[in-house]
Amino acid sequence: MVDVQLARRGIRDEAVLAAMREVPRERFVSEGMEEFAYDDAPLPIDAGQTISQPYIVAAMIEAAEIEPGDRVLEVGAGSGYAAAVISRIAKDVFAIERHEVLGHAARKRLEGLGYCNVELRIGDGTLGLPDEAPFDAILVSAGGPEVPRALKEQLKVGGGLVVPVGDAGEQSLCKITRTGTGSYAEEDLGAVRFVPLIGAQGWAEDGRRSAANHLPGASRDLSC
Ligand code: SAM
Repeated sequence: MVDVQLARRGIRDEAVLAAMREVPRERFVSEGMEEFAYDDAPLPIDAGQTISQPYIVAAMIEAAEIEPGDRVLEVGAGSGYAAAVISRIAKDVFAIERHEVLGHAARKRLEGLGYCNVELRIGDGTLGLPDEAPFDAILVSAGGPEVPRALKEQLKVGGGLVVPVGDAGEQSLCKITRTGTGSYAEEDLGAVRFVPLIGAQGWAEDGRRSAANHLPGASRDLSC
């Protein structure tokens, strides 16, 4: 998987390639799906969600430019796979999942594999984790209508936020870098397709845009 699907398709960061080699993806897929664990594809998990395609996981982690001493937040923990890969590179990982059933299973898997530097929380990740902020990097593994304001504000200066932004069918993978206390740079890393980011600063359950990013006087964060 690492040589054929990742290195040959342009993933260059040795730390990312080593972490993807180390984490057993078959431990994160649903029972009965183990034979497909190393296919270049997302796979279904509980609660109608997916474990992301390995190439996308690697590309997002590479784009986030994570360093060994970093504190990293992942929104949309799902099976816990991406958080596990990040945990092999960063110092501390905080991962949030909105579905309890997924969050509890992911926590158990991560503990079972001895990945002790991951803390898994259940809740709305569009609001980030104010009690643990700021973060060196934030990765969002679900697609929202715009960049959640709370996540931008929880980045350290110099830190990067990688987030899919767009409509339900297709999104742009955006990298937002905090260049100063009140300034950000953004880059479009290409088209992706993720399950929806549902929460106060994402989509509403019924697919409508949530209102929390649109405070009176606030500029819209439609990025990339
Ligand atoms: N990173 C995951 C993995 O490695 O298995 C893949 C996750 S899946 C593509 C996206 C996840 O985001 C789903 O499990 C979904 O429930 C979760 N999600 C969507 N909106 C969320 C929110 N506001 N807060 C936390 N999790 C959210």
